Amino acid sequence: MALPKHLRLEFVTPERAIAHEEVDELQLPGEEGYFGVLPGHAPLLAALRTGEMWYRRGQDVQYAFVDGGFAEVLPDRVSIMAQVAERAEDIDIQRAEAAKRRAEDALSKPSLADAEAERTRIAMLRAITRLNVARRSRRQL
Ligand code: ATP
Repeated sequence: MALPKHLRLEFVTPERAIAHEEVDELQLPGEEGYFGVLPGHAPLLAALRTGEMWYRRGQDVQYAFVDGGFAEVLPDRVSIMAQVAERAEDIDIQRAEAAKRRAEDALSKPSLADAEAERTRIAMLRAITRLNVARRSRRQL
């Protein structure tokens, strides 16, 4: 059987649709590390972690922030159901910078309880990842 030439990307969160389009290639932040998908990939179900994703059609590369959820990979289709995600251009940089500052301030307090420190480190990771995604996309322009 001939290999499919493209992938149909269906990318949603419970709140919104992020992307519905044909792509040539994409990369996702899996629980076990970043992985790439090309047309014809073996079927796979992967849990997603906080990270950056991108998808490419021709020369056009789009970036997005992903935080948890699942991806189902089929030879001609990838369905992403992320818990939280934003397209790079929808990321509010000031909000992410404020979240990063709040996390830095909280972590600088020696009295921070372990559970709170862990939550704060996760919030910091979300903020830094959002900033990286937003900057990566703006560098492309
Ligand atoms: P904050 O502390 O700024 O609320 P957060 O990491 O706690 O950030 P989340 O719980 O991950 O926020 O997301 C809550 C909602 O807000 C989601 O709909 C998410 O898409 C949106 N969101 C959070 N931060 C940003 C941002 N910097 N730009 C755009 N949307 C954001």
